[in-house]
Formats: sequence, C-alpha cells, structure tokens
Amino acid sequence: MTTVSNASAPSAAATPHAAAPAEILQSVFGHECFRSGQEEVCRAAIAGRDLLLVMPTGAGKSLCYQLPAIARGGTALVISPLIALMEDQAAKLAALGLRVARIHSGLERAVARQACVEYLQGSLQFLFIAPERLRVPGFPEMLRKKRLALIAIDEAHCISQWGHDFRPDYRMLGEYLPGLRAANGHVPANDGITARIPVLAFTATATPEVQADIVQQLGMIKPAQFIHGFRRENLAIEVVEVAVPDRAQAICSLLARPTSRPAIVYATSRKQSETLAEVLSQSAGGNGKIRAAAYHAGLDAATRERIQTAFQRCEVEVVVATIAFGMGIDKADIRTVIHAGLPGTLEGYYQEIGRAGRDGALSRTYLMHSYADQRTHDFFLNRDYPPLEHLSTVFQTLGENPRPVEKVRSEALARLELDQEEFDKALEKLEIHGGARVDFGGSVTRGGPAWRKTYAVQAQHRAEQYQKVVRYTAMSECRMSALVRHFGDEHDVDRPCGKCDVCDPAGAVLRVFRHATPAERELAQRIVDELRPLDYLAAGTLQRRLELVGRISRDEFDALLDAMARAGLIGIEDAEFEKNGEIIRFRKIRLTEDGLAVRHSTPLPLLISDGIGDEFARRGQPPSRAKAKKLDAAGKRTRADAGPAELTLEQEKLAALIKQWRMAEAKRLGVPAYVVLHDRTVTALATARPENSKQLLEIDGMGEAKAEKFGAAILKVCFGAK
Ligand code: ADP
Ligand code: ZN
Repeated sequence: MTTVSNASAPSAAATPHAAAPAEILQSVFGHECFRSGQEEVCRAAIAGRDLLLVMPTGAGKSLCYQLPAIARGGTALVISPLIALMEDQAAKLAALGLRVARIHSGLERAVARQACVEYLQGSLQFLFIAPERLRVPGFPEMLRKKRLALIAIDEAHCISQWGHDFRPDYRMLGEYLPGLRAANGHVPANDGITARIPVLAFTATATPEVQADIVQQLGMIKPAQFIHGFRRENLAIEVVEVAVPDRAQAICSLLARPTSRPAIVYATSRKQSETLAEVLSQSAGGNGKIRAAAYHAGLDAATRERIQTAFQRCEVEVVVATIAFGMGIDKADIRTVIHAGLPGTLEGYYQEIGRAGRDGALSRTYLMHSYADQRTHDFFLNRDYPPLEHLSTVFQTLGENPRPVEKVRSEALARLELDQEEFDKALEKLEIHGGARVDFGGSVTRGGPAWRKTYAVQAQHRAEQYQKVVRYTAMSECRMSALVRHFGDEHDVDRPCGKCDVCDPAGAVLRVFRHATPAERELAQRIVDELRPLDYLAAGTLQRRLELVGRISRDEFDALLDAMARAGLIGIEDAEFEKNGEIIRFRKIRLTEDGLAVRHSTPLPLLISDGIGDEFARRGQPPSRAKAKKLDAAGKRTRADAGPAELTLEQEKLAALIKQWRMAEAKRLGVPAYVVLHDRTVTALATARPENSKQLLEIDGMGEAKAEKFGAAILKVCFGAK
C-alpha cells in the first residue's frame, strides 16, 4: 500500500472544514436550506461513501460534490465530458471565491501547467478535467502525489454503452480510478471523515440498467444510490397521434398563443427543423409573426451560439432544434416543448420535456407520433448502427502498427466499397467497442476481437430503447408515472399526475376525446362481462372471444380498451412470453375493482381518443378519411366536456326506441348492436323519421340489404313513435 506524504503544507483553502454541512451551505454557497435529497447525499459523501446520484438537470446535483469537497478538504477531482459544462461550473465556483482550475483541450498549455502547479501546492479546491486527460502520460501519476478530497464524475451515464451519449473516453475511467483512490490510503480519519477517497457519480439520466452499468464500470464499492426528483409537478404531458403532413399546422396553432412561448420544438431532421422554423416565422403569433429559428448540427458554431443567445434574451421565441439544444441554456420560462416526431429514447425525451417550466409555472409538452415515425427511425438506426460487415471490413484494414487515420482511410476508400462517411462511422464504432485504438496523435491500430459481440448487443439495445418509446405512446398509464418508473424511482410511481392526457383527457389541448357511442359503451359492457370471471386476458384473445376480429379494427378495439383503462375499469399491462426462441409481446387486460363493480345498469362514461382538435388541423383541407368516419351525428366530434350531439327531445325519444329494438334484434341474432345498425344510422333515422321504404333507403347507412332485412321493423318503430 502506498502512503504518499504531501509535498507541501496544504493551504488553508484545502484543509477540512469542521463546520456542519448546513453551515457550509450558508456560509460558502449562500443557500438557506438544502433541497430535497441534497443533505442525505452530502452526508454520505462526506463520510467517504461511494455514491451514485440520479437527479434531473437543474435539481442541484453539483452541490452534492461541491459541499462534501469543502467539508473533506483537499482537492476534488471533477471529471466532466463537456468543456462547456466544465467552464460553467468552474466559473460559478470561482465566483464564490473558491480555488478552481480546469484542464481541457480548449486551453493554452500554460494554463494547464499552472493548474498542475497549484494542484501540487495543495491550494486547489477543485480541479476539473476531461476524461481523456487521464491518458496523458504522467498525468495520473501527478494526481497521485496529493490527497484527493473525492473524485466526482459528472454525466456519468456517458460511461455506459446503454447510456444515450456514450463516450469512449469515459470507458477507461474504471482503469484509472483504483490507482487514484489508492493514493494516501492511510491518512487517519478525522471527525468522521474517512480517508477513503470516495467516487461520486452524477447523472440526470440513467435507467436502472445504466445505473448498474455505471456502478460496475467505475468499480464503485458498496455505493449508496440515490434517485430523486424525477416527478415534475408542473408539466402537462400530451402524447398525440398526428399524421406527418398535419404536424406543421398543429405546431403553428399550438404556438400561436403568445402564452405558449417561449418554446422549443424538437424536429427529427435538419430539413424538418428548417421547414418548421420557416413555416412558424410566417405564421401569426397573436402579437405579430412568431420569431422562430432553426438550430441543428449543420449550422456553424457561431450561428448556433447566436441563436442560443437570442433565445435566452427572448429575441427568438421558438427554436426548432434537432440536436441537444438546451444543454447549456439556463432559461426558466420555457412554456412549451413539442416533439415533432418520436424521440429515440425515453431518456432523451424526458430531458427535453424537462427543459420546460423550470420556473415552476404550468408548462405543456406535446409528443406527436404516427406509424410513419417507425420508418424514419429505422433509417436512423441503420445510419447510427451500420451493418456488422462494414465494421469487419474496416477492422481488417487495421494493423498492429499505428498508422495515421487519414492514411488508412484513403487507402481503404480506394479499395473498399464504403464511402467516407461509412468508413468513419464504422471506425468510430470499432473504437468505441475496442476493435480499433486511436491515439492522441491520430494514429490507429487494430484492437481486440471482442467488439463484434458488444456492438451487436448495443445495436439491439438501441432498437429496444426505441420500442420503449413506442410503448410509451400507447400506454394507458399516467405519463408522468410511466417516466418516473422508467428512471427506477419506484417509490414515486403510484401517484397519477392529474395533468397529462391520460389523467385528464378533458383538459388536453391538442388531443381530443369524444364521448363513446352507445355501441361502444355496450361493447365495453361486454368486455367487462367477459373479463369478470377471469384473472386476465390477452388483448388479442379478448378481441377474438368477442368475435370482433374483422368487424372492428384492432385500432378501434385498442382505443376502446384505452378509454376503459383511463376510466379506471381495466388495467393494461405489457407482458411477454417466449415461443420458439422468439419474444412475443402482448397486453394483459384485467378488471380493476371499479371494473368488477360495473353492473349492466351502470352508465359507462367513456372518452375515446380522437386525434387532434379541429383548430389544429390543416386549414382548408378536407377532413381525413378517419376523421370523416368519426364525424357522424351520434358520436359527433366534440371536446370531451361539450356533451354529445344535440337531438330534440322528440328525436331523442325515437332514437331510444330504435336502440331498444336494435338491442333485442342484436340479441336474437347474436351479434353486437352496431352490426344491426350503426349509431350514426340510428341518429339519422331519429332525425329523418322515414315513413316509407324509399325514404328509408335515403338514409346514410341503410343499404338495400339492411332495408330488406330490417326495413319493415324499423318503419314500424318509427310509425309507432308518432
Ligand atoms: P444539476 O447539476 O442537477 O443540473 P445544478 O447543480 O447546476 O443542477 O443546480 C441548479 C441550480 O440550483 C444552480 O443555480 C444552483 O445554484 C441552485 N441550487 C442548488 N442547490 C440549491 C439549494 N440548496 N438552494 C438554492 N439553490 C440551489
Ligand atoms: Zn398523469
């Protein structure tokens, strides 16, 4: 075991701070009190425990390494993957009068040298480095000359290949940490501060899987794990099916009200971002045109910077972005975040919607999706995860001796079937997975063969992440609870948010719900009856048992099930089983307590999801087929709270009589009621009150066959009602 003595006496700045955490919080950071979770985490870190803290951005993670660093004394080594984050944190600490230095590629050599001198003098409280710095020969050795207060790893999810921004340089942290923490292993404990140098990992975005990976990769020892604060009380989440061509108009309408801005729209491609920004800029925003700008990787850094600043200053009110826009921005009053297409991961999605409403005021988020998004995603997946053969081809061109990447590339391009982009992508993937090593000088050598397996696993994982997003859109569970569960905060999942489109369909802005038609309510009743004696049924089996296959589409059936779940009558649970080595997914449907209590006399006030509100649809366009279908008189599209279509009292009575007859007839024939007559036809009959077969045939929904079969009986009901 090594015991390295301090090269020089530590300055006052770097000695342990005897004060209680709460005092340090006030005297050093100027905060009145800890935020939820902070104190517990600080105490664990001060006591020298390894820990993983998962808290959303802005919740106050930084304090959880900063305060313990001061309490423990010595220099805190902070490893951060992004120069901007590093600069930002260092500046904030320096402003508090703390001794801070940072070392990264954006700085002059002299600055780095000075940082090392100060570190060795023991006068630094915080040293920020980029992970790749540890690979610089001599650097880890230099760090080991002094006692570190702690090692903080920011954005720790970058270490995990399951994380959404995996950084190869984070991968090797695990190799260096044991050496760094072994230094000064025997400094005696003082006031409950153990000499063990704790590793503290921080991230805003890690699923349980990624959390486990972080702990393992960093070799954390019995880490305390804290997951806090994923529930956002002031976000109203809506997830809405919107056809791709309708999205621009819907977005313009949503953002037309000045109170819905500032806003961020996340687009799925550069082109979409530019088009949307253009369309928005042309559209009226209540107080003149909407000031919108596109923001994507195709713009140069200066332009991006300019847009960011303009947004910060409210000169631009809407940014339509494709990439991690908002990472560095600190804007509290974002009122709306719109996803104009399906995001690739729930983590990314959560981070993005999380940029809304930092000031605590109610903010709305909309996720637009449709089946077409799946194709777009497949395209991206293929681009980001090129075929294994591409990697193999590049792997074979690499040798044992380092050669400049440029050279390898140009040789390869001349011989291989790949273009430059494909080559670079494949090389990047090889490097990430250890199949290639690129050194500081930009030379590449061949790595180990293990890349094949981890690459395949990762590509598969990516595809699954996307499936999770797809399932999220189809869920009938509170949106916020679903997200909180996704992040592993199991203690906090059982409380519906009360604001999302699932919890409060009537309060939804973009998404509309209509009242279920009597036929749908009847069907719901049959579903209840079918489920009553059983533990659960798979959705498909249920549909078959009700003999609905073909008569009612799977979509319509699912919409009804979702409505029943929203009304609390049934629970829907994703489940899977294996068949011939294949995972088969299905949805388990079971009755809830409320569902069990339903009797035939119980009215079922169901709200069926019905696309987007008319005011958000494309102007001057004929209603789509689906919409036209739903624009019938009985189930007339309506805001959920507006009540059903209006009939006169007399018409209402006739409709009831026709339905009575219909019910009996359906029973006799053993078919669902709407097979006899559609609701819309019932309403049309009640309104028109036909007196003979000719008039009867004029009614929408009354074909020859129907007239022949039921005409006489229907006319009798209509006459009888006179
Ligand atoms: P994160 O790293 O989780 O994204 P930060 O650590 O940057 O969040 O904290 C966000 C903001 O909250 C910062 O401006 C910070 O000063 C402030 N903050 C953190 N803890 C407290 C506290 N206990 N009281 C008041 N403000 C706090
Ligand atoms: Zn909810």
